[in-house]
Amino acid sequence: MSEVVEHLAVLTGFRDRDVMDATLVSSLADMLAPQSVAAYRVLGEHSDQRWVTRACMNAGQTIVSAQELRLEELPPVADFPHRQMCLESGQENFLQQDDRHIALFPLASEQQVVGVLEITSAEPLGEQARRTVAAVLRIYRNFMGLLDYSERDTLTGLLNRKTFDTVFLKQLQQRQPLMQDETVGRRHTVGEVRGYLGVVDIDHFKSINDRFGHLIGDEVLLLLARLMSSTFRYHDQVYRFGGEEFVVLMRCKSAQDAEQAFERFRAATQAFPFPQVGELTVSVGYTEIRDMDSPTQALQRADAAVYYAKEHGRNQVCNHAQLLVLGHLKDEDSPSSVELF
Ligand code: GH3
Ligand code: MG
Ligand code: MG
Repeated sequence: MSEVVEHLAVLTGFRDRDVMDATLVSSLADMLAPQSVAAYRVLGEHSDQRWVTRACMNAGQTIVSAQELRLEELPPVADFPHRQMCLESGQENFLQQDDRHIALFPLASEQQVVGVLEITSAEPLGEQARRTVAAVLRIYRNFMGLLDYSERDTLTGLLNRKTFDTVFLKQLQQRQPLMQDETVGRRHTVGEVRGYLGVVDIDHFKSINDRFGHLIGDEVLLLLARLMSSTFRYHDQVYRFGGEEFVVLMRCKSAQDAEQAFERFRAATQAFPFPQVGELTVSVGYTEIRDMDSPTQALQRADAAVYYAKEHGRNQVCNHAQLLVLGHLKDEDSPSSVELF
């Protein structure tokens, strides 16, 4: 019993989802000593959902969590029908394949089932072990709910301003070569990963509120947030900074990759039929995060680039470094706050 309590103390000692998934898996591996434990989550749009391995531990092996992800390389949900059934029904599922016993448990947040925990063992899991897993998962779920409450914006579910500084500094520390992507089992080209910060501001949003009212305005914010979550990659962090300003933190190999991602989002927004409102556009400014940057300095540069985009026709993506090269901005031109528009 005290062993379980100790594991729970470790599990709830982190405020980082990646670490929590890894801790969940290693705690259960330690408690139950099965052949393997893995936590899978689903990603992507409803019509094209994929499995991502969040953490996996095989007997005698160290823990692995998935690194850089490309959605199209992940296995579709339908490739693993038993997991899919567990995901869709929200019910535990126990089965036998050859000489292995597989136990599947839904991984749920407060709102929905977000993934599946899979435990493989030589013998079927006993009643006591099943109850232990179910109880640990309930605690995991409650704790995730608390994390969501403190870190997320209530309207859109995106990360809020408060968590930005922490993630920004973590991102600075994570500048390292891309590691092997265990999910797809192959090595990407090794190169330095750079951090990019983008500020997204809706064009003429005030007039949407004025013409259609605040409720429709809020719906636009919600739809745009969903569009951001589906356009940017899983490891990119999307924030609502309040109002109609959003911030994206991403890791890519070059400014060209960052440009492509922001441009894809800009085009997707323009093409999206917002109910009642119709067409809507966004302006984006982005900058590479420098080694000695503070969050405020990086935000100021991205802001200066958005400001330039607004002044020069809106509905466009501007790179701060490019604007410097072209002589359109000076480094010290950066305005002092994100609340520009
Ligand atoms: P620009 O193209 O220059 O960015 O024009 P804009 O109208 O988007 O610029 P501005 O920043 O002046 O207007 C932002 C508006 O966003 C003002 C405010 O009414 C609205 N707004 C801020 N927060 C919210 C919110 O939570 N919900 C809704 N519906 N509107 C909001
Ligand atoms: Mg605006
Ligand atoms: Mg604004």
